[in-house]
Amino acid sequence: MLSRSNPCVWIIFCLYLCCCVDSGEAQNAKEVILLDSKAQQTELEWISYPPNGWEEISGLDENYTPIRTYQVCQVMEPNQNNWLRTNWIEKSDAQRIFVELKFTLRDCNSLPGVVGTCKETFNLYYQETDSEVGRSLRENQYVKIDTIAADESFTQGDLGERKMKLNTEVRIIGPLSRRGFYLAFQDVGACIALVSVKVYYKKCWSIIENLATFPDTVTGSEFSSLVEVEGVCVSDAEEEADNSPKMHCSAEGEWLVPIGKCICKAGFHQKGDACEPCGRGFYKSSSQDLQCSRCPAHSFNDREGSWRCDCEDGYYRGPSDPPSVACTRPPSAPQNLVYNINQTTISLEWSPPVDTGGRNDVRYRVICRRCSWEPEECVPCGLNVGYSPAQSELVETYVTITDLLAHANYTFEVEAVNGVSDLSRTQRLFAAVSIATGQVSEVIKEKVQQRSVQLSWQEPQQPNGVITEYEIKYYEKDQKNRIYSTVRSKSTSATVNNLKPSTAYVFQIRAFTEAGYGTYGPTLEITTKEEATGKKMHCGYSKADQEGDEELYFQFKFPGTKTYIDPETYEDPNRAVHQFAKELDASCIKIERVIGAGEFGEVCSGRLKLPGKRDVSVAIKTLKVGYTEKQRRDFLCEASIMGQFDHPNVVHLEGVVTRGKPVMIVIEYMENGSLDAFLRKHDGQFTVIQLVGMLRGIAAGMRYLSDMGYVHRDLAARNILVNSNLVCKVSDFGLSRVIDDDPEAVYTTTGGKIPVRWTAPEAIQYRKFTSASDAWSYGIVMWEVMSYGERPYWDMSNQDVIKAIEEGYRLPAPMDCPPGLHQLMLDCWQKDRAERPKFDQIVGILDKMIRNPNTLKTPVGTCTSALVDDPNTPDFTAFRSVGEWLDAIKMERYRDNFTAAGYSSLESVARMSIEDVMSLGITLVGHQKKIMSSIQTMRAQMLHLHGTGVQV
Ligand code: AMP
Repeated sequence: MLSRSNPCVWIIFCLYLCCCVDSGEAQNAKEVILLDSKAQQTELEWISYPPNGWEEISGLDENYTPIRTYQVCQVMEPNQNNWLRTNWIEKSDAQRIFVELKFTLRDCNSLPGVVGTCKETFNLYYQETDSEVGRSLRENQYVKIDTIAADESFTQGDLGERKMKLNTEVRIIGPLSRRGFYLAFQDVGACIALVSVKVYYKKCWSIIENLATFPDTVTGSEFSSLVEVEGVCVSDAEEEADNSPKMHCSAEGEWLVPIGKCICKAGFHQKGDACEPCGRGFYKSSSQDLQCSRCPAHSFNDREGSWRCDCEDGYYRGPSDPPSVACTRPPSAPQNLVYNINQTTISLEWSPPVDTGGRNDVRYRVICRRCSWEPEECVPCGLNVGYSPAQSELVETYVTITDLLAHANYTFEVEAVNGVSDLSRTQRLFAAVSIATGQVSEVIKEKVQQRSVQLSWQEPQQPNGVITEYEIKYYEKDQKNRIYSTVRSKSTSATVNNLKPSTAYVFQIRAFTEAGYGTYGPTLEITTKEEATGKKMHCGYSKADQEGDEELYFQFKFPGTKTYIDPETYEDPNRAVHQFAKELDASCIKIERVIGAGEFGEVCSGRLKLPGKRDVSVAIKTLKVGYTEKQRRDFLCEASIMGQFDHPNVVHLEGVVTRGKPVMIVIEYMENGSLDAFLRKHDGQFTVIQLVGMLRGIAAGMRYLSDMGYVHRDLAARNILVNSNLVCKVSDFGLSRVIDDDPEAVYTTTGGKIPVRWTAPEAIQYRKFTSASDAWSYGIVMWEVMSYGERPYWDMSNQDVIKAIEEGYRLPAPMDCPPGLHQLMLDCWQKDRAERPKFDQIVGILDKMIRNPNTLKTPVGTCTSALVDDPNTPDFTAFRSVGEWLDAIKMERYRDNFTAAGYSSLESVARMSIEDVMSLGITLVGHQKKIMSSIQTMRAQMLHLHGTGVQV
């Protein structure tokens, strides 16, 4: 049995001191530390059971600062069960706790005579309690967090001595429900030195963003959850209407997705993160304005923090004048008023005033007064007088006044007014005139025919002079823009001809004397007689509406590019389907199993065997029994659309069955189903090149569709299908109904259902769907692909997504996404749709990336030269065989795979690409990465050593 004085234990610790390159890292600003064993310099006094297991031992770190460690090394004895428990840790307001362990672990192979008893792992446990529970330790109350193994143990150094590696492992626990917890370490026979235990949780620290203060916020309990936090406006600021400030605290303690904002109140402007009052002689009228402005002309102020300026004497601000315009005054009087009389009608004309008062809203009003022959005795003219165009609010400099009394004396005043006249005195100008006339008071209809009306009337009772002629005015009553016609008569009767049958007309008559025309008399409405019904029109279709008449329909073929034809433009959409889709015989189709549910019925897989052809796998969409005619039409609409397309990246229609039951749409079979589910299932398992290859396919399919003039409107990973060769094809076609049956689609204020997270802002706001809005959706699909099917904008609400986009927020690059690809996404998400790349440009850019894979490297992966210089990096050139190298990187389980594929020398290994590694049958992504990064380092070391490159 080993004791404290056993050299093995001391070697562990001593070696740790020699090679530990802990940088004494600065405390991460996002972390709140609950326990840091390294920070404590007195004894930790954790509980160790049994007493001969874990031992607390003092040491020095690389800076010669004393630290406390726990060690155990009972590798010779079987059945070890040594427990070590920390003191009680109060969790504070944390929900997810991070436990960071630094330890060294002795490689059993390096200890002679321990075969069978020596272990290379230990177990980490925790127990939640509301308070301290004393110093007894009951194993069954602990919950296991994980088994901890070393990434590295001892390795052989250049000079043959063993070097010790310091391992760092982080585990996460949560959500926690009690006030605190204990951590416990169970050793089952390993040789371990626990150098540091750090327990912390993450917080987003208080910040001011967009003039709103966001308090310290503890991250959520789940890795993918964002904690939404409402901001509080700083002083003298207020929330922008319907746009209250919010931010989201990510699991990593970072503030993300700022939405909404505060703005400085009226009278204040923004300086840095605060609002300051406007200076004297300046104002800011609304919180919406950004800056304080100088007082406009004829206004002033002598206070700080003003929202407006006061007018100088004699100047005014109209009720609807904004504070930003100059103060103004009323206009001077109109000039050169002249008049013209025709019987009981008088026309006035004038010129605009010399001074408009500094405004451009000068209007005129006419005041009419009837006076006795003594001018000073006047009364208002009343409502019987007509003004054309109007009595007040006149923009024009003329008016015609009608229906005046005969033999009366009138006074007219024409006044110029503007927006501030009512706040001040007015200035006037007027003219007086006398008029006289007579009116036809009663009209009689003598005879009404289909196309003519005969009228008669009495001479006016007080004709004002000799009547020489009458004028009959008439118009069609229901005509919108009234067009008058006139007929003249020298007697008191007339016949009006050329009228329409069954039509209502309005008639009016006036007399003409030497003084001119009088006013029209009252109106008379007459409807002409109906047309005799001699022959009847016959409407209808003589041809029976039969199926199979497709040949009667002509399809216009366009030279050059094929153009998509909207099946809705067909009078009978059932015929459209036969224009574009082949009718299949149901006996050629064998349904095998149900694979999904569509809106109209089940989706099945099966086989299609056409005469003289090999049978092929197909997906069969069926129309459920009891469908309505509309459902049948909508169902087949997808086939009418899909049947027009022929492209390797667009799902191919084999045909339809419409002349039997069930009605079916038969499509090429896509073995891997829809892309979103496929990516989620294979998270992290593809190379960037493979992912870009998928994106290239989707872009090529979309280029084809947009060239045909087809706008998809619902491009999303869930509507892309994947076949067994990883070829992606665009699917889910239809008109608006496709979107209606998309579970992601929600109703928006512009009407209609829209899958908000995938849709361009102009399409959400005013339903502007174009290939450019499809390009926006394509950018979202890129993001979905590069994040292996993550939900765009995570768990944010649709409303918040719309707001965030409007405010310029865009999705960040997914993990390990090459910057060039993220830039392409951002280009697709340009607000101005004309700025977004076209699909042929997107295909071009992706092709270029695929041809030059270097452009797809993430910056981290390119630092092999730094690795070469790192003293902790093993010297891979020192290994003598592939087996030795695999042992060193703990990948010895793949030894046979390498041998079977003929990789017998390290030189041949150094030439391997990721595809070569995958072709060995190594499917775990973590292992692929570990092997590849070791190969890259080896390659760089060889270059260093021999000065020669390795051709890959
Ligand atoms: P859909 O009604 O087009 O949304 O189809 C419903 C489900 O059936 C889809 O989510 C796919 O999983 C599956 N599916 C549809 N078409 C095919 C196909 N051509 N090959 C394989 N699976 C398909």
